[in-house]
Amino acid sequence: MDDKPGWETVTALITVKAYPVIGRKTGESVCVAGVRLDRPEREFVRLFPVPFRELATENQFKKYAFVQVRAQKGMTSDRRPESLRPDLSSLRVGEVVPTARRWHDRWDLLDPLAGATTACRLAAAAKVSGQDAPSLGLVKPREILDVTVADNPDYKKATGLGDMPEADLFGNVLTPLEATPFIAKYRYYCEDCTGNPHHQSIIDWEAGQLGRRLLREHRTAEQARAAIRTRFLDEMASPTKDTHFYLGNQHQYPGSFMVLGVFWPPAGSRPLPGLF
Ligand SMILES: [Zn+2]
Repeated sequence: MDDKPGWETVTALITVKAYPVIGRKTGESVCVAGVRLDRPEREFVRLFPVPFRELATENQFKKYAFVQVRAQKGMTSDRRPESLRPDLSSLRVGEVVPTARRWHDRWDLLDPLAGATTACRLAAAAKVSGQDAPSLGLVKPREILDVTVADNPDYKKATGLGDMPEADLFGNVLTPLEATPFIAKYRYYCEDCTGNPHHQSIIDWEAGQLGRRLLREHRTAEQARAAIRTRFLDEMASPTKDTHFYLGNQHQYPGSFMVLGVFWPPAGSRPLPGLF
């Protein structure tokens, strides 16, 4: 593709899809992040805004799908180094990288970034440099202590968020977005922790959907909270997994990081250095 000045063609592996948020200017959109494959080194990229539910069905990419899209530095208040504004009319979606062979193909793409920074290091850099500091990272927790699950005070069962526009420019109407019923958080020590553990919200799309599904299936809130903890602690962070967290911040609060998603290949599956 030939790019107009200011635009670039990004080829990336999507690794993160956060629960949708509603912004006054952007409408309903999803924070999507991934790893760029068109650069000499692996580096993170954030694509925003992505009004995911408005994309054509074949373009509603899954996590670990390859995508190619034209993008530019947004003329917005988001100055974070990884952030780009995509032109979704140029979006092309490729295949999903499988988990076969003990996640070999995913490791192949992510290995240089896995554990390359820590939660403490990201927070410290943001404290000094604000939005100019790295805003995405794939960290390896030293010890995962717990998953806490609380009720979301913003969750309104009957009405969702209630502030959706009635129709978009093309007259399409989406089912109003429902806020996630619960807020799950990981409590963990990163490799650099010397004081208190981190306690960070999990804002992965799947975490939000899981809570909604459990309530739809008529589980009580208590059962749903327990099931979410089982999923994110006993399954995704069990000793049989080499669990890593995708961390990211919000541009308004660069010092405070959240868990955007979990990378959980089998324990011992990371290829030895020099194998690629
Ligand atoms: Zn730490």
